[in-house]
Amino acid sequence: MSEFIGTRIGNLVVVGKTSEQLHGSIAYICQCDCGERINRSERNLKDAKRRHAMSSCGCQYDRKMKFIGEKRGLLTIKEWVRTSQETEYVCDCDCGQKGVQMSLKAISSSEMPNCGCYGKRLRAEKFSLDLTGQRFGRLVAVKLLEKRIRNYRLWLCKCDCGKMKEATVGQLRSGNTKSCGLDCRLQEKRKYSATASNLEHRKTYWQIRELLQERKSIAYIKKNLHVGSSVVEQIKRELVD
Ligand SMILES: [Zn+2]
Ligand SMILES: [Zn+2]
Ligand SMILES: [Zn+2]
Repeated sequence: MSEFIGTRIGNLVVVGKTSEQLHGSIAYICQCDCGERINRSERNLKDAKRRHAMSSCGCQYDRKMKFIGEKRGLLTIKEWVRTSQETEYVCDCDCGQKGVQMSLKAISSSEMPNCGCYGKRLRAEKFSLDLTGQRFGRLVAVKLLEKRIRNYRLWLCKCDCGKMKEATVGQLRSGNTKSCGLDCRLQEKRKYSATASNLEHRKTYWQIRELLQERKSIAYIKKNLHVGSSVVEQIKRELVD
C-alpha cells in the first residue's frame, strides 16, 4: 500500500514507506516543511488526514510561520531556527543590524525589542542637546534631524555662505565641523587675505569676526578692540553675504 506517497497532511508530505511497524501499523517517512524528516504510522497519518490536522514533525511549523514577517519594536522577524534549547527567531533590526537571533519569549517580554542598539540610542539622544541657534564657526544650528550617523542624530546647520550642512553634536562641539566644507573655507581664506594684508590686521579681523558671530554689537566691538566702526561694518557685511 503506497496510496500515501505524495500526500500532504498539514506540513508533512509523505515521501516513502518503511518496512517497520509503528504503533501496530506500517511506518511512513514524512518530510516536514521545516526540513526535518520523521516517521509516522499509517494509522496516525490516516487519522490526521481525516481530521485535516495541521501535522508537523513536532516543530509547530504553522504557529512559528505566523511570526515570520512580523514587526516587533525595532525588529522584523525573518525566519526561525531550532537551537538545542528552543526555537529562536532571526530578525533584522531597524538600525541596520541583520541576523539578530532571539527567542520569542525574549522578543515578547521586551517593550521595544531591538538588537541592543536601543539603549545606546537613548543614551546618545540624551547628548543630543538643543543647539538651535548656536554657532559653531561658520555654522549655525537650525534643527535636529531624524537622520543619524552611528546612532547620533544630525543637526541641520546653516553656513555663513548660505549652504546647509549636517553634523552631529560631537562634530560641532569638537570643532571638527566649522563650515559647510572645504570650498567654503577656501573662499573664506581668499576673503580674509583680501581684507587683511598684514598680521596685526588679520588678528584684529578675526577677533572682530568672532565677536560679530557671537552677536556682539558694533559699539561693543569698537570699545573692546579699539577699532573704527567702518571696519566692523565692512566685516559684518561680509558675514551676511
Ligand atoms: Zn517540522
Ligand atoms: Zn538595532
Ligand atoms: Zn559655507
